[in-house]
Amino acid sequence: MIEHDVVIVGAGLAGQSAALAAIAGGAKDVAILSKVHPVRSHSGAAQGGIAASLGNEAEDSVEMHDYDTVKGGDFLSDQDASLILTESAPEMIYALEHMGVVFSRTEDGKIAQRPFGGHSSPRACFAADRTGHAILHGLFEQVVKHDVKIYSEWYMLSIIVHDHGCHGIVVMNIDSGEIEVIKTKAVMFGTGGYGRIFQTTTNAFASTGDGAIISYRAGVPLEDTEFMQFHPTGLYRHGILASEGARGEGAYLINGEGERFMERYAAGMMELAPRDIVSRAEQTEIDEGRGGEEDGDAVYLDLRHLGRERIMERLPQIWQLSRDFQGIDMIEEPIPIQPTAHYSMGGIPTNVDGEVVYDEENTVLAGYYSAGECACVSTHGANRLGTNSLLEACVYGDRAGRSIAKYLSGGYEERPATPQVFSDAVAQATERADRVRAMDGPERLGDIRNDLKVAMTNKCGVYRDEGPLTELTDELREFRGRYARAHISDRTRRFNTEFLEAVELDHMIELAEVMVAGALARKESRGGHSRRDFPTRDDENFLKHTLANRAEDGTPDLTYKPVKIIRHEPVERTY
Ligand SMILES: Cc1cc2nc3c(=O)[nH]c(=O)nc-3n(C[C@H](O)[C@H](O)[C@H](O)COP(=O)(O)OP(=O)(O)OC[C@H]3O[C@@H](n4cnc5c(N)ncnc54)[C@H](O)[C@@H]3O)c2cc1C
Repeated sequence: MIEHDVVIVGAGLAGQSAALAAIAGGAKDVAILSKVHPVRSHSGAAQGGIAASLGNEAEDSVEMHDYDTVKGGDFLSDQDASLILTESAPEMIYALEHMGVVFSRTEDGKIAQRPFGGHSSPRACFAADRTGHAILHGLFEQVVKHDVKIYSEWYMLSIIVHDHGCHGIVVMNIDSGEIEVIKTKAVMFGTGGYGRIFQTTTNAFASTGDGAIISYRAGVPLEDTEFMQFHPTGLYRHGILASEGARGEGAYLINGEGERFMERYAAGMMELAPRDIVSRAEQTEIDEGRGGEEDGDAVYLDLRHLGRERIMERLPQIWQLSRDFQGIDMIEEPIPIQPTAHYSMGGIPTNVDGEVVYDEENTVLAGYYSAGECACVSTHGANRLGTNSLLEACVYGDRAGRSIAKYLSGGYEERPATPQVFSDAVAQATERADRVRAMDGPERLGDIRNDLKVAMTNKCGVYRDEGPLTELTDELREFRGRYARAHISDRTRRFNTEFLEAVELDHMIELAEVMVAGALARKESRGGHSRRDFPTRDDENFLKHTLANRAEDGTPDLTYKPVKIIRHEPVERTY
């Protein structure tokens, strides 16, 4: 058995920020575990920017940032969380800068800021269109400097929760295939999102929602998973992101007829309306026959008027991506795009100190923390504004790390977990691993995965409706059946990626079930959740957070908890 005071699962911005904060707060023995090499975490793919009301390019304030965030979230944000996020932002940017993160500059040397959807002032600090990469590497240098123990390419299989406290995790060393326990005083999840359950997504292969489901299976509910963000500008047929930074720099959206269609949907903010609104506008153009390309399933991002110099200075990566994947030079031609699954607003419920809470009264589960995209402190409510998520991962990762340090130095009490608790956890994980490695049925894992993604995209995508969601509920049951009859061809232990994909598919099917249950029950349209049969927001019945608990029979059982409304009463959301 391995032992550490603290183990952090996930090496993205949330996990690394937490590790550094825990150490700064006095924690001595901190480890990070990641299924991919730390700097391959999805945070490194973030392009457009990180929000803070520095006011370097126009007037701005914390109050404006806070209001934009809550309005962007369609008033489902917990307002204590959104205020902490926006108040902490300027200090966080300077802390990152002092760490060595190189931000792009204005002419007079200040940190440059570009406009972003739903933000009423240019507030996105950026490093060209490689912002996540710059921050992730900046943090990683500090993590290495502070001798954080790193388990790179280790896979978490389960969390050990016993007697309302968390005692560690069960992990597999991917290289050897060995399963072990890491016993800890505190565990933190920064395991990222789950866009991979959709057919087209911007998300990395690792974004399969392991942490969310592992937590759910250990008895912690999942909050608001029906709120999935579809980003308006995924490269057509690939889903790869063309950053909103492009529209921040002034790019247009045009339909197959060459018309700037946002005029019809958000005349005030046009292309810079929040993502849920822009994605729905695009989907409507496509559905009503004004799309482009052979099958009419695309609209276009037009950057031609920005000119070569600006594109190559501010958006070099997306120029490269569209040239490599689509064979198009965006300086000369508009690029075909479509909505693509991007961000998970919901996740593991936490309070503003990063402590995981497990019921309607927000009771804390001792020793268990979470932050970043896998968590739901609900700053983003029903729809996240671009650039608020890197910020959230840093701010709430940092807060979780500080809470851990405080817990270890004061509040920690040795809780009784007998050796049996640990040996049972290993036995269970081993039994599951053996079962997966022995799968010998007729179904191919790849087919099940593809069918799942197509079904989720078609029936739980940008627009939703009772009929398709009900069908999908039945189909997901069939997917479980098919999974039980699946076949695995690699039965070895060492670096068995087929095994890992099988485990991830198991997680994805269950996550889809939770998401669809939430979407079916939420009979309203709010933020990223848009029902054709209930097209308006219904504050009377649904101004509340969904909590899905895992019932005895493994199906999601829904309850709700109130939204924290403090300063901003819900009003109609127009742009
Ligand atoms: C293409 C793209 C561009 C984006 N651009 C922006 C942007 O410009 N601005 C912005 O604010 N947001 C952006 N976002 C969103 C933002 O990048 C993410 O929400 C954020 O980086 C998530 O950070 P995280 O630390 O929570 O998780 P991630 O960075 O996703 O890291 C997850 C970590 O968990 C580990 N992990 C997961 N499961 C396991 C397991 N079972 N065992 C071991 N380890 C595990 C992984 O190895 C990884 O280290 C973008 C997202 C994408 C996909």
